[in-house]
Amino acid sequence: MIRIGLVPIGKIPESLVALLTAQVKDKLKDSALLVEIHPAVALPEKNTPAFVLARLAHLLSNNQQKFLIGLVEADISESEDDFIYNREEHSRRMGLVALPRLRPEFYKLPANEAVFQARVLKLILREIALLLGLSLCQDNKCLMYHARNLHEIDIKYPSFCLDCWPQLNTKISKI
Ligand SMILES: [Zn+2]
Repeated sequence: MIRIGLVPIGKIPESLVALLTAQVKDKLKDSALLVEIHPAVALPEKNTPAFVLARLAHLLSNNQQKFLIGLVEADISESEDDFIYNREEHSRRMGLVALPRLRPEFYKLPANEAVFQARVLKLILREIALLLGLSLCQDNKCLMYHARNLHEIDIKYPSFCLDCWPQLNTKISKI
C-alpha cells in the first residue's frame, strides 16, 4: 500500500491539518493510497526549498512506497526576489506546499478560509500526483494543469480530469 504522509512544518493549527487531510483522503478515496498525518516539525533555519526538504528527508524510510508532502507555514523562496507555492523532489519522494501566499490576506484582501483551503488542497493533490509520476495536463480545469498564478489555481476544479485520473491509478498500480 502506498502511503502519503502530510507533514506540518512550522506552526499550523491541528484543525487545519486534520481538515486538509480529510479532504485529501476524500478526493483520493477511490485510489489505492493511504493518507496519514505526521507529527509537526520545526521550520528550518532558512526558508529555501532545499532546507525545507532536508527537514523531511530524515522522516523518510527506505520504504519505496512512502511519500511525504510538507505543509510549510513560511514563505519559501530560492532567492530574495522569487517565491514558490510548491516544489517536489521526485527522486526523494517528497514535496512541499508553502501556505502564506495562498491566503487572500497576504495581499491585503479580506481573509477567506474557504478560498485558502481550496488552494492548499489543490496544490497538495497535484504534488502527490507529480510524485507518483503523473505528467502535467493541458486542461486548465484539471488539477494537473500548470497554474502560473493564484487565479489559475482558483479556476481549476479540485479533481483530476478524465484523462489524468485513470493515468494516476495506473501509476499507483505500478509503484
Ligand atoms: Zn488532466
